[in-house]
Amino acid sequence: MTENGIELVDIIYWYLKGLVMSIKLLSTEVSSKIAAGEVIERPASVVKELIENSLDANANNISIEIVDGGIALIRITDDGIGIESKEVELAFKRYSTSKISNIDSLNNISTLGFRGEALASISSVSKLTLTTRSKVSEYGTKILLDNGLIKKTETIGAPIGTSIAVENLFHDFPARKKFLRSAKSEFLKIKPIVTKYSLAFPEVKFSLSHNEKISFQSPGSKRVRDVISPIYNNEISNSLLEIDPLNLEQSDDSINISGLISPPSLTYSNRSHITYFVNRRWIQSPSLNFALEQAYKGFLKDSRHPLAIINISVPNNTIDVNVHPSKTEIRFQNEELIFSCVQRVIRNTLLTKSSVPSAYVTSDQGKKPNYLMAPLSNTRLENHHFNNETLSDEFPPTNPSESPHHKLFPILHVIGQLQKTYIVTEGPDGMYLIDQHAAHERILLEDLSNRMMSSSENAQSLLEPLTISLTTEQENILSKHSSELSQIGFEIDPFGSNNHILRAIPQTLELASAEEELHFTLNEMLLERNTPQVMRRALSSIACHSAIRAGDNLSIESMRKLIEQLEKCVEPHTCAHGRPTTIHINKNSLDTQFGRT
Ligand code: ADP
Ligand code: MG
Repeated sequence: MTENGIELVDIIYWYLKGLVMSIKLLSTEVSSKIAAGEVIERPASVVKELIENSLDANANNISIEIVDGGIALIRITDDGIGIESKEVELAFKRYSTSKISNIDSLNNISTLGFRGEALASISSVSKLTLTTRSKVSEYGTKILLDNGLIKKTETIGAPIGTSIAVENLFHDFPARKKFLRSAKSEFLKIKPIVTKYSLAFPEVKFSLSHNEKISFQSPGSKRVRDVISPIYNNEISNSLLEIDPLNLEQSDDSINISGLISPPSLTYSNRSHITYFVNRRWIQSPSLNFALEQAYKGFLKDSRHPLAIINISVPNNTIDVNVHPSKTEIRFQNEELIFSCVQRVIRNTLLTKSSVPSAYVTSDQGKKPNYLMAPLSNTRLENHHFNNETLSDEFPPTNPSESPHHKLFPILHVIGQLQKTYIVTEGPDGMYLIDQHAAHERILLEDLSNRMMSSSENAQSLLEPLTISLTTEQENILSKHSSELSQIGFEIDPFGSNNHILRAIPQTLELASAEEELHFTLNEMLLERNTPQVMRRALSSIACHSAIRAGDNLSIESMRKLIEQLEKCVEPHTCAHGRPTTIHINKNSLDTQFGRT
């Protein structure tokens, strides 16, 4: 045993686990392959680099102290593996790193850092003090640098781990200092970095303070949900849906996707609550945003966005993290597969776990939250035709009998009709209001697609075929998708220049509107490029125009039938365009409103 109580076997164990790494200067062959180094732009970039270093050092506790938005002081203290005394000065040389050594390791990076640049860059524009003690050293080392020059190195007593204080950032660099904002807004850029990393590393305890006041703490409990509570609140944390593990039938078992997503009832006006981690690296990706949005199609209105924390894990040698200076973009070897997996697991989670949205009961007390825990407001349906296209990408929707999920739609008892628009029903916990048009549209949509899948007849032949004329664009889409259109129920034959004969129309449509509807459907189809989406447009359009409308009087019996059919739908909660079909007002909120509780 050494003097400070460390067993020799521990040291050997740490070496074998790679927990003791030695810092080396990268050869120019390697350093020239490194994507242009990031310039330290503002306090938040310092915080990001230092947190990444602490995480790479296997820290369990990371404390981040900020004074005046980080312009006066950023101090990050960890209990990680520390740096050996003899390597402390080397750590501040550009391209010195313990994390990679040769070209091959650049293709298989498992750490957050790898360029050996951050300490060099940060110390060159600040006054920096680093105190560190490695797990295998008996003493600690303290080093002081000013604008990149080493002022002092000394041996001192210190706990295992590393503490770095960065003071007077850009003090002698007025040109860069002038781009800094107020202390408050610099801190607002720091906080999300800390919260994002605490979501990626829920087993690590993070603590963030600003001007000596605690701003955020994560419990280090390993559960992502426990990190959500201090960032948002308990209600939001409890409402999130856990992503179901991937069904691996058709995919590669080296891909793993986990995380939490918001139910359709919890939405935001922007994408800032969407976070992706790939092998625990926080990345930004428009393509993943697209996959996520596709998964939520039909569950959200286009202008709203979910909360999502998505962890993707893939073998390190199948991604390239060395593509962007800030390391926030990566390249996947098999991009399409990853995106389709993300889309599938999220879609599946929504289909199996989301329930009827609750009514958003406004109250006069308190501030309105910046999120909506509610169904979306009613937009006139006509608007949706042009802006929205919101059906499942599993086209056509799966047959209800084949999908064991979705029994989250309650059994409802019809009470009556409200304003010739809504069906009032009673369910397991209070009142459920159903938008008669939205519900019928959903039913017809699934019916149409099921018939298409099972090659059942969708068409009704016209006794007197109609002669119609089409634009060149409409003709093009017609010839491209004639077989799909006939599956939907439109049978159309050419008849001279620009003219066509319409012989059959979808069963659900009325004869009087058939021609107009064909034009409308073809125009809708023109808005999409790929076949599944073109067909989804067509089906939604026909379902919408065939459905009962707001203003139609319904008998109790026909309302009952409608509800029964809705219960059987695969995706009963939304119409073809993403509006909710059903809103739930639970008994509790009624009791509260009436002052019974
Ligand atoms: P990189 O992280 O790309 O290797 P840095 O300049 O950020 O480059 O750090 C240089 C080296 O200093 C790291 O490779 C690591 O060995 C060491 N180091 C930096 N911060 C810490 C820390 N908090 N704990 C342990 N070692 C650290
Ligand atoms: Mg680093």
